[in-house]
Amino acid sequence: RTILGLESSCDDTAAAILRGREVLSSVVAGQGGLHAAYGGVVPEIAARAHAETLDGVVAEALREADLTLGEVDAIAVTAGPGLIGGVLAGVMMAKGLAAGSGKPLIGVNHLAGHALTPRLTDDLAYPYLMLLVSGGHCQFLIVRGPEDFTRLGGTIDDAPGEAFDKTARLLGLAQPGGPSVETEARHGDASRFAFPRPLLDRPGCDLSFSGLKTAILRQRDALVAAQRGLTRQDRADLCAGFQAAVRDVLSEKTRRALALYRAEHPAQPALAVAGGVAANGSLRAALRDVCADAGVVFTAPPLKLCTDNAAMIAYAGGELMEAGRASDMTLAARPRWPLDTAAAPLVGHGK
Ligand code: ATP
Ligand code: FE
Repeated sequence: RTILGLESSCDDTAAAILRGREVLSSVVAGQGGLHAAYGGVVPEIAARAHAETLDGVVAEALREADLTLGEVDAIAVTAGPGLIGGVLAGVMMAKGLAAGSGKPLIGVNHLAGHALTPRLTDDLAYPYLMLLVSGGHCQFLIVRGPEDFTRLGGTIDDAPGEAFDKTARLLGLAQPGGPSVETEARHGDASRFAFPRPLLDRPGCDLSFSGLKTAILRQRDALVAAQRGLTRQDRADLCAGFQAAVRDVLSEKTRRALALYRAEHPAQPALAVAGGVAANGSLRAALRDVCADAGVVFTAPPLKLCTDNAAMIAYAGGELMEAGRASDMTLAARPRWPLDTAAAPLVGHGK
């Protein structure tokens, strides 16, 4: 089965074509430059850029796969959650393509796309424990099927990606912050500043990252006040300290989530990680250690499939189709769309 996927929920416009699990093409057009002057993604600017770029990105994905739209079997599109203007642009584009070609339309939850990616890149059977760590989300999920997720815990405030981006902004580093902070941290001393490890004293696997952000801000201001600026080394040490705090908290909470998960599914000890922050090398190494200690299989998709892309949307669309799910022209764009089945049973599909 050949599936065209579209993704436009944040600041990347993406299209991809999958045949089974083979990625025939995956085109991602970033908008970084458009938002650089504003210190964050501006929804209006993002929506307009998606609307202008989608056409070309789809054409490029078809060209790279050497296919015509007629040769595609279905069109999958991110229908939420995300910035509503961008999601709408993608959904309208997908509806147009579906109507024009007579192919089925499948609305996909962006987070389900991230959460199923390890099944695209590895032979990973259901169920598995997923740590989803991205720009807007952070949660532990038991994944039992393409629409069957149970949330074990997650952030009670900011997402770690947001904290990476904010830290980069505070230190005058380029956006997106994750890669910039990781690069700086490589020559930094993580032990120079004592940053908090929020919520470790509390049971369960909830997380918090807003206090960490504030701690970076205070430490930066203290350094600036004491020496009228930051040296290259200060910056590196702040980044290293911040990254170590995020890594430690996520590792410890992963240990706890694994214990909860394994109590329910003792026969399938597997952890998968996905989302943009899963691209972080230090975090991946720490999680690999946690899993090695616990005798759990660890899976992390390649970096370019961790950050936003449309291959994951096409893949999730394929799984939904296998399960007999499809949408119709009533498919709605949703700014909010929790994955947890208890909160939102089988949503996103036109009735
Ligand atoms: P969501 O999926 O929650 O809607 P999003 O789509 O914006 O949010 P992703 O594209 O999955 O998020 O991830 C982007 C985030 O990942 C950004 O916050 C970015 O800073 C972060 N990120 C990317 N690479 C790294 C890295 N190497 N280390 C840490 N964070 C990273
Ligand atoms: Fe994402």
